[in-house]
Amino acid sequence: MSFLFAVVRFENLHEVKRLCHWGPMIALSVIAICSTIAVLDSIIWYWPLDTTGGSVNFIMLINWTVLILYNYFNAMFVGPGYIPLGWNPENSQDSVYLQFCRVCQGYKAPRSHHCRKCNRCVMKMDHHCPWINNCCGHLNHAYFTSFLLLAPLGCIHAAFIFTMTMYTQLYDRISFGWSSVKIDMSAVKRTHNPIMPFSVPAFAATLFALGLALGTTIAVGMLFFIQMKVIIRNRTSVEAWIEEKARDRIQYYQTGEEFVFPYDLGSRWENFKQVFTWSGVPEGDGLEWPVHEKCHQHTLTIEQLKQKADKRVRSIQYRVVEDYNGACCPIGKGLRTFLRTPCTEEPRICLTRGEVLFATRGYQPPTPLAGYCFSPGWLLKNLRIPMHKWWMYGDKVLSDDQAKAGARTRGWFPRKCVEKCLYDTANNSTASEEKKEN
Ligand SMILES: [Zn+2]
Ligand SMILES: [Zn+2]
Repeated sequence: MSFLFAVVRFENLHEVKRLCHWGPMIALSVIAICSTIAVLDSIIWYWPLDTTGGSVNFIMLINWTVLILYNYFNAMFVGPGYIPLGWNPENSQDSVYLQFCRVCQGYKAPRSHHCRKCNRCVMKMDHHCPWINNCCGHLNHAYFTSFLLLAPLGCIHAAFIFTMTMYTQLYDRISFGWSSVKIDMSAVKRTHNPIMPFSVPAFAATLFALGLALGTTIAVGMLFFIQMKVIIRNRTSVEAWIEEKARDRIQYYQTGEEFVFPYDLGSRWENFKQVFTWSGVPEGDGLEWPVHEKCHQHTLTIEQLKQKADKRVRSIQYRVVEDYNGACCPIGKGLRTFLRTPCTEEPRICLTRGEVLFATRGYQPPTPLAGYCFSPGWLLKNLRIPMHKWWMYGDKVLSDDQAKAGARTRGWFPRKCVEKCLYDTANNSTASEEKKEN
């Protein structure tokens, strides 16, 4: 047990609850199935332990499993690192350049974002990954990326074992007729005498594991390349999105500014060394970052503030014309609204006639926050089903008291329950006055 404690940092033991979620359950099942069947296939049928090759093969299989689990559990339990609750910048004057998080009751340090699922502000947040049921961020970026590299490598080894087991075991039992292929599973394998015969269930299990291993190799391998791109450019997927919006904003207002992304240190190797270190702990404290010579600590946070102000100006107000009870698939709002419900864990918000909302998007977010995770929501999102005709996403305009208390009602609602406000009120105070009149 002490060995386990030494290997996996269990100081965040209360984090064990993160295992109770479909993501880790599926991921751990895939790891368990592939490694168990690979070990059984090799020692019983393909490469028994009484040969040197067989022993080396066995040790390698165990090695993959240990390394994969080590990085997986560290990514999950070490976590991304959270900004301390109620955090203030060292120099209090700097707070004007930062956004305030009402939930954490503190300022958002540069590169941090509030994760709704973790309910904390996360250091250098990249995305919330459902497969580790935690955010990928500052402290676990290297563990997460190592896992993404090791899992496909282990799967390729396992897939080789599965294929060779089936090939060698079926070779003598398979016969081709004029119009049929016959597999005689009762035929005894001549070349070698296994502990037990290769049965139909063993064949089915091996085939199933092969499917899992190949699927994992492709899906996780792609994620690895995406994460490596994030690391060598030192630009998280959230930041890439902010940068794109910065260019949009500058072009839209023709301000003539030049936006330089501050955290790219100019060399891939330098960027790589920020995340991967020999000690396993990344460079920096997660609050202050080395920046490009043309930039300063708050270049990006100032840009974020400008974008936030711009979004407020450009978002459109809607008035509720029909009540909505917050159901995922509401009955009575039309068949299409029922069928085209957004495939996301994001909340739905109840609506009452007369309420006012700011709609920020009428379709699934192009933001990579929920990003490329191959989760069911991700897959459906990327099938590009146009939901904006039936569903919208936005913020309810709250009374001043509620807003001060930090309340926020944000989520999805059916398009047909709201109607665009004809008057142009782009700021909150006018909107709440409008609401009080009703
Ligand atoms: Zn927060
Ligand atoms: Zn999170």
